Amino acid sequence: MTSLNNLTIHELHELLKNQETTSAEITNNYLEKIKQKDVLLNSYLYVDYTGAAAQAEQTDEYIKKIKNSTNSDFPYLTGIPLSIKDIFLMKGKKTTCASKILENFISPYDSTVTKKLKENNFVFLGKSNMDEFAMGSSTENSAFKTTKNPWDIKRVPGGSSGGSAASVSADLCAGSFGTDTGGSIRQPASLCGVVGLKPTYGMVSRYGIVAFSSSLDQAGPIAKDVLDSAILLDAVAGFDGFDQTSRKFKIKKYSDIVKKADKSKIKGLKVGIPKEFLSEGLDNEILSNIQEIKNNLRELGAEIVEISLPDTAYSIAAYYVIATSEASSNLERYDGIRYGLRSAKNSPGNDINSPIGLSNLDNLNNGSPANRTNLEEIYINSRTAGFGNEVKRRIMLGTFALSAGYYDAYYKKAALIRKLIIKNYKDAFGKVDLIIGPTSPTAAFLIGEKANDPLSMYLSDIYTISVNLAYLPAMSIPSGITGKNNPNGAGLPIGLQIIAPWCSEDKMLETAKIIEDMVDFRKKYQPDLNF
Ligand code: GLN
Repeated sequence: MTSLNNLTIHELHELLKNQETTSAEITNNYLEKIKQKDVLLNSYLYVDYTGAAAQAEQTDEYIKKIKNSTNSDFPYLTGIPLSIKDIFLMKGKKTTCASKILENFISPYDSTVTKKLKENNFVFLGKSNMDEFAMGSSTENSAFKTTKNPWDIKRVPGGSSGGSAASVSADLCAGSFGTDTGGSIRQPASLCGVVGLKPTYGMVSRYGIVAFSSSLDQAGPIAKDVLDSAILLDAVAGFDGFDQTSRKFKIKKYSDIVKKADKSKIKGLKVGIPKEFLSEGLDNEILSNIQEIKNNLRELGAEIVEISLPDTAYSIAAYYVIATSEASSNLERYDGIRYGLRSAKNSPGNDINSPIGLSNLDNLNNGSPANRTNLEEIYINSRTAGFGNEVKRRIMLGTFALSAGYYDAYYKKAALIRKLIIKNYKDAFGKVDLIIGPTSPTAAFLIGEKANDPLSMYLSDIYTISVNLAYLPAMSIPSGITGKNNPNGAGLPIGLQIIAPWCSEDKMLETAKIIEDMVDFRKKYQPDLNF
């Protein structure tokens, strides 16, 4: 029998409902496995061993109670253990964003996502690793550890939600939440052989999520299968008055749509494949994987349409101006006074690490003499010691792009390109219902391979970034595996990206489920976890 750790959320839910297992048993299984495997895998930054065990027991009590009453309110996530990217605030728990500058920051309140998960009685296993402030595509930019890919521990899990994707793929949790600013849910999901869904901008509240680039950031699930991703989305989607960019969308019950998905729905579906997505740089096996899926969809009655997204080539440049500009402004708040780390001049052993805001003010008065230099030095020293290289690079790029005299040449131009990209998609969706293509140009690359070459790292986002610029929903599902002669690595998962019109998660998930059944990835391939 498959182990409990390997089951999906919907399978675990059935077992819990029929009282064939308990949340305590499921949770302890995960905690045990985390203890064994995560020493090497590094998918977690923090594991809440005692909290998770206690929460699972409480949930079991709750399950018993509702079983004995007529009230059958038993949400899918009841008793289900999840990992959460360390970018979501969770009251009373550390949120570091994988940065030294927030090393000991304790969240004073809950993000809307974690609040909703709590209302669904989930079990919090811990915080997953990520690139510092979600800037990166490999999780190598974490200030604390590098997560490995469970399919090959010499390789990266992708990023920035690499810890989330690795923990789901290595059965160290039942599912996870990440964030996606330019691909950070879809790309790691693709590299780790799991499902990652980036919802329409505004569908999931950003309240209580550490901001990177506010016009692009969106939270979403990373899951073992398509139905689980819909279950997780159901739990967190919806309007939130605390987030000014939250929208009053007509939210559907996506898990019901996935459960009803049927092959017959493909008949007459117009599926577009952008020619710019199949260009130079794309791994040959990924290309043939897409051709195969295209043929299978055609056999089911889909109409395949070659489309063009002519401005794709400019998306990376536009993104790296917009995202860095917004980041330079969002990250201004880490000044060494209001949050976390404050570094003392010329006295490295004398850094002050204060849990949250106000107590730092006390430190300002009571700290060592070295701390009572002028305000600017406190800012400079804290930011120099607290931020990693990639974060510094982006703050500098963004500050430059927004500065007087350069604003029109960079930020304004990038904003205009964003409009063109939105129009590219609008035109495309005038012709087709959905778009398919690769999630990433190659399967998982080696740790260190791109670490010193930011440009080649940025290029790995070529297929995901335009989706964020256009505020659209998209997801990545595992669609195949690389062969033994693949020059970019053998036996590694390939991800298929499905992009939908604004707020069309229903059609996207339905089609994803049908393709998932066609590919049958989980039955055919599993990572070898004997490391
Ligand atoms: N890899 C992209 C970047 O480095 C996207 C990151 C993200 O989506 N958070 O910015």
